Amino acid sequence: MLQKYVDIIIDISHEAIDRPFQYSVPEGLIPYVKIGTQVTVPFGLGNRIRSGYVIGISDTPSFDPSKIKEIDGIKTGGIPIESSMIELASFIKEQYGSTMINALKTVMPIKEEVRHLAYKQVNLLISGSEAKEYLEYYQKRNARAKIRLLTELMEEKQIPLSLVTGKLNISSSTLKSMQTECVISIEEESYYRDVIKGEAEIDSDRESPNQEQQSAINRVVTDYENHQAGTYLLKGITGSGKTLVYIEMVEKIVEMGKQAIVLIPEIALTYQTVKRFRKRFGNQVTIMNSKLSKGERYDQFQKAKKGEVSVMIGPRSALFTPFPDLGIIIIDEEHETTYKSEYPPKYHAREVAIERARMTGAAVVLGSATPSVESYYRALKGEYQLLTLEKRAIEEASLANVSVVDLREELKLGNRSIFSKRLQDLIADRLEKKEQIMLFINRRGYSGFISCRSCGHVFRCPHCDVSLTEHFSGTPKAKLVCHYCGYEEKKTASCPKCQSKMIAGFGIGTQKVEEMVKKMYPEARTLRMDTDTTRNKDDYENILNQFANGQADILVGTQMIVKGHDFTQVTLVGIIAADLTLFENDYRSAERTFDLLTQAAGRAGRGNLRGEVVIQTYAPDHYCIEAAAKQDYIAFYEQEKAYRSLLSYPPFTHVLAIFMEDINQEKVRVLSEILKEMIREWGKDNRVQVIGPCDATIAKVNDRYRRVIYLKHNEYEKLVDIKNQTEEFLEKNAAYKEINLSFDFDPMHVY
Ligand code: ADP
Ligand code: ZN
Ligand code: ZN
Repeated sequence: MLQKYVDIIIDISHEAIDRPFQYSVPEGLIPYVKIGTQVTVPFGLGNRIRSGYVIGISDTPSFDPSKIKEIDGIKTGGIPIESSMIELASFIKEQYGSTMINALKTVMPIKEEVRHLAYKQVNLLISGSEAKEYLEYYQKRNARAKIRLLTELMEEKQIPLSLVTGKLNISSSTLKSMQTECVISIEEESYYRDVIKGEAEIDSDRESPNQEQQSAINRVVTDYENHQAGTYLLKGITGSGKTLVYIEMVEKIVEMGKQAIVLIPEIALTYQTVKRFRKRFGNQVTIMNSKLSKGERYDQFQKAKKGEVSVMIGPRSALFTPFPDLGIIIIDEEHETTYKSEYPPKYHAREVAIERARMTGAAVVLGSATPSVESYYRALKGEYQLLTLEKRAIEEASLANVSVVDLREELKLGNRSIFSKRLQDLIADRLEKKEQIMLFINRRGYSGFISCRSCGHVFRCPHCDVSLTEHFSGTPKAKLVCHYCGYEEKKTASCPKCQSKMIAGFGIGTQKVEEMVKKMYPEARTLRMDTDTTRNKDDYENILNQFANGQADILVGTQMIVKGHDFTQVTLVGIIAADLTLFENDYRSAERTFDLLTQAAGRAGRGNLRGEVVIQTYAPDHYCIEAAAKQDYIAFYEQEKAYRSLLSYPPFTHVLAIFMEDINQEKVRVLSEILKEMIREWGKDNRVQVIGPCDATIAKVNDRYRRVIYLKHNEYEKLVDIKNQTEEFLEKNAAYKEINLSFDFDPMHVY
């Protein structure tokens, strides 16, 4: 008798069972069990039925066959996972550290079937003379309802059931009777849930690429045709027309029968990207993101799998769209930190995209005006191919004129407002000319932290090691909010410690900026965009639409407003506090600040009106602010490279952060000490540098204590070895299983 054995990853996320278990397949099920099938199996001593994924099949048992259990069945409604995705999951597990089941779940954005939506349609089964005969027959018997329906159907052939029972008022017994007479049939037609509003209208009025754009397009397309697709870094200044380059490349590759994934850094950018792609590709484009319902996501996944769409646009997780024949992956704004997952496996979409592309021969195009230091470094080394756009695409558009205002000087001159003199003058000027203004501040809420001016008491979150932020100040809704765990409390009128009423906020956030604008420019129409004003699915789109249609003069917002938007009427961008992100205790803070400032500055003067940018700062001499003012990426890169190389940070070395957290402070402390000793030992021969353990910068979040160990080595693989040894160690030591531990390779922030 033919025997089949399968290796199964059980759907329980636990280090201790993070390996495949072998089962045999009952003969009747053999034809249905493939790599990637979701099955149910008896597991553990009690033989509880669990679900799992088949990741391997063989004819021979790997241990005593009499001890091998049989699988229970095929999981109903479970979507099989493609074998290439299993391969990608193994890559993710190995490179970033996680259980295999978590890696599998990462590459499978949709795991279960969702019921199809279907219309019911009433069809006419007879035609011409036969239909006329029936009509006469009904007339003779005075069957009025049947006459009504048949007459309609003789015109229309097919009518939705809802209309038949509704407007035509036909009863179900009449329908049954006509079905028995074989005059009509009722059929179900399934349809997909719509995720993009409005009809797609292909715009025949195309922009044609300029020379710079064309040569970038040609490079990628030609390499692809010659089966030599690689990874490209498209470095193009703001407004140089990177989107057109993406669209043209995608079009050429889609014409070859392939599919494309376009990654954007956050959901807020979906709307504008989709709008531009739909003008070229119509209904070939769809989107996938976490704001969609389960059913909506399932339908998009199905469309992609069946090849019914060819372009998928979405944030990080859209990378796992199951296209049958993927030809190109675009990562727009590739420097954005959102491309790195914050949850284990903490993978970077850029690296995983390159691996997925390698498996299928697809091209990867990384686009940015301010490439990450890593990517630019790799491009200069020749690991990525560098494509550059040096000019703004719209001929009349030129880079904005940037001025830096030293806030210390403003204060000396007696200006206590949050707007410098220069910014005030320019705002007034733009309002008068009816041009648009964007004001950017990278903090939501009303103020930074809030404290008592008499005794110095700072209002802190009881669950986290951070201060609370004030929201809705001066209104009855006034409250203090923790941005880490969501804790809220009502703002009290007096200090809980000394009863003084001198409670005040320090620093400013979007709400305060909005309030000040309204106070100083009551005639201006203002919109605010931040996490608090975009809680619902359509909020982004509504705000952006209103601003684009000129229904507002001023848009105040966090980093959400600076990325990628193309508003041609904006001629003034004010950066209210440029150094807000600069002095975070983080080796990437200069890069992040430079990116934000350059992107923000890039929003001004994108049409044929010249733009002005005002950068307000307390650190006008910092190299990242100087370089951003000149919009000079290379100057920034050179400085930053020197700094990173001096202190051995990526890209000159690799860093692995091992992060631990637990309710029990002592338990995490002990584990971190033990691990440090072990890691020193494991890494001794390869001279792995071990830093810590120490408390995380925010030592407690949500009542969980946080510790971290950093490792450094210039070979990534050496760090992977340590990760593997750590995983093995934890697997063997039940005492530490409960502690939440995760690995973060080349982290985007310090812990
Ligand atoms: P980036 O993403 O590089 O900042 P965009 O793709 O938003 O720039 O393009 C900036 C503007 O230039 C857009 O309004 C776009 O329609 C326009 N544009 C791009 N390429 C061309 C072109 N070849 N001819 C005319 N206009 C173009
Ligand atoms: Zn006090
Ligand atoms: Zn908190």
